[in-house]
Amino acid sequence: MLHRVLKSYDPNNYYFHRNTAISWERFLNLLDEIQGNGWTTRPISYISSGYTSRDIFITFDDGYSDNREALDEILRRGMLATVYPARDFVKNRFSPIDDMAHHLMAEPVISKEIGESLLNGRLKKILRAISAPRYRYLRNKWFGIEQDAMNPFLFMTEELLLHYSKLGVEVGIHGSSHRVFTQLPKSSLMNEITDSVNWILNLTNIYPKSICFPHGKHDIEVVALSLKHTNLLLGVEGGSFCTPVLPRIHIKEHENVRT
Ligand SMILES: [Zn+2]
Repeated sequence: MLHRVLKSYDPNNYYFHRNTAISWERFLNLLDEIQGNGWTTRPISYISSGYTSRDIFITFDDGYSDNREALDEILRRGMLATVYPARDFVKNRFSPIDDMAHHLMAEPVISKEIGESLLNGRLKKILRAISAPRYRYLRNKWFGIEQDAMNPFLFMTEELLLHYSKLGVEVGIHGSSHRVFTQLPKSSLMNEITDSVNWILNLTNIYPKSICFPHGKHDIEVVALSLKHTNLLLGVEGGSFCTPVLPRIHIKEHENVRT
């Protein structure tokens, strides 16, 4: 499981703090390791047809535009991957958590306390569950911040997603708004999933074959609703799991060292 691939490691960068970025060097080492071991990269739907320990499934969550260089390198090496873009991030070029992260990176004076809260605390919990309009309202009310800080080119465009889909990169469901599925009322959850399915189907002409839960969160009800669309469900290692959700290895800059 990958999110962003950034040019180089920066200990002050929010994404490295949060373990949602790895450096280009780390990324190339991973690909070299896969190739050196003679492993085969597969799109995630391949899991449904059986797989061996020599099959590797590379996934990118959220649809960051720096995935572009990473996907080009993957394809150049004859490898494959699966992307899980959040629909609203791509369509609106905006994400609450990323916007707050960019505000914090630009304002080191307020970054310590709020930064901790955003990384592991209450702010992170709140931002994972609210819509973009609600976020903007609270951002203004709590911090007096009216302007968006994030780069509108942070996420891939629909055109780019279509381009990679045509080249064999699989596109899976990661929700519409990226809000935590377990905190949504049932009707909103159903819309999150069906809107994502329809968006991907209309964009790529391919029915999405897997769901990757935003923030990895799921429960029995989420799983039951998701299974109406696909039986290939993905979470994140370390969380609590319901059958048949598959855990993914969270690839970090300085961990995952083999022993
Ligand atoms: Zn995500």
